Amino acid sequence: MERLVLFDIDCTLIDGHGAGGRAIMHAIKDVYGVEGELGDYSFHGRTDPGIVRDLADLWGAGDPEAIVGRYEGETQPQVVHDLAAQLGTPDDMIDALVDACVARYVELIEEEVGKVRIEVLPGVRELVTALAGDRSVLLGLLTGNVTEGARIKLAPTGLYSLFQVAAYGSDSALRSELPTVAVARAEKLTGRRFAGKEIVVIGDTPADIECGAALGVKAIAVATGRHSLAELAAHEPDYLFEDMSDWRAVYEAILA
Ligand SMILES: [Mg+2]
Repeated sequence: MERLVLFDIDCTLIDGHGAGGRAIMHAIKDVYGVEGELGDYSFHGRTDPGIVRDLADLWGAGDPEAIVGRYEGETQPQVVHDLAAQLGTPDDMIDALVDACVARYVELIEEEVGKVRIEVLPGVRELVTALAGDRSVLLGLLTGNVTEGARIKLAPTGLYSLFQVAAYGSDSALRSELPTVAVARAEKLTGRRFAGKEIVVIGDTPADIECGAALGVKAIAVATGRHSLAELAAHEPDYLFEDMSDWRAVYEAILA
C-alpha cells in the first residue's frame, strides 16, 4: 500500500441537504432547552460536538456577534465543551452535557436522513469506487462527524462499507488531532506506518487543508462546500478542484 486516502464527508462526499444541522439544532433544544437562528454561523469544517457547543453558546449566553466564526475547525465535542464552560457549568458536568447532546443528535440524525435524499456529489461515486478497488490505496474517512452520525449519513449512498479506516469527531474535538488518529488505525490494520505525502486528506474547508499540516500530508481541496476556490487557494492546498466531476484528475493527484 502506498497511499492512505482520507475523505471529509459533508460537502466533500455528500450533500445532506441540511439533515445534520437540523438534527443538531433539535438535539440542543432537547438537551439545553435553547434554540435560535444560525445567522452567519457555518457548520463547515467543524465537528459535531463543536457545533453543539457553539450553538448552545450562541443561543444561551453571551454576545452572538462575538461567537460567530470563533470555532471553525473545531470538532463537535469541543464546541459543546467550550459552551458549557462559558455558561459556568462545572467541569465534571461538561462532558456529560456534551455526551447527552451528541447521543440525542445520533437519534435525530437517523430520522432526518430518512426525510431527505442524501446526494452523492459529482464524480465521488466513481472516484471512491476506483480507489476502493486499488490495492495501492487504503481508503478512509477524516470527519468531524461522530462515528454513528458518519455511518448514518453514508449508509444510504452504499459507499460506507468501502472505507476501511476512519477518524471521527468522537475521537477528538480537535480536527488537527484526527490525522494522527487515522494514521495509528491504518498502521494497526495494515502494519504499515503511512507518513508525509503518502497521507492524502481531501476536504472542502480551510480546516481540512490545515489539519494535516503537522504531519506534512498532501491536502486536496474541493470547492463543493461553502468556501470558494479563491478562499481555499489562500490556504495553499497541494491540489485544488472546483468539484470531483473529473474524478480521474483527482485520482491522479492522489497517486502523484
Ligand atoms: Mg466538509
